[in-house]
Amino acid sequence: MLLPEFINETSRIENFFDKELTRFQRDEWFRELKNISIQRYRQIVQEAFRKCKYMPKLADILEIQRSLTFNAPEVKEKVECDICNGTGFVMYKKHFKDGNREYDLDYAARCTCANGMSQNKNIPLITEVNLA
Ligand SMILES: [Zn+2]
Repeated sequence: MLLPEFINETSRIENFFDKELTRFQRDEWFRELKNISIQRYRQIVQEAFRKCKYMPKLADILEIQRSLTFNAPEVKEKVECDICNGTGFVMYKKHFKDGNREYDLDYAARCTCANGMSQNKNIPLITEVNLA
């Protein structure tokens, strides 16, 4: 999140608990929290309203961040695969003839492993383009 987003959202905590962070605390909070998305920070703040009886410390905020799993971005697990090297894609070339001109174009097909299955379904499978 950006500094203005952080300040805006953090001021909601300050208002709610009727206590202000010092400049130093604010800097420290931001340093620890800046890699969190604003959407997630909003969830954390909301959870702090529910859980904390007093103005949360940075440790409390980080604790909530760790305990909150809902709406967390989905981390796709990679499986090992010799066909696609774990990428889910296999590149192949299509040969084209256009009058006298002949050329190859690169295409991607989805591997039939779990990596490929989690990719965009509009991309053909390697079995559909006869690569496997
Ligand atoms: Zn694969």
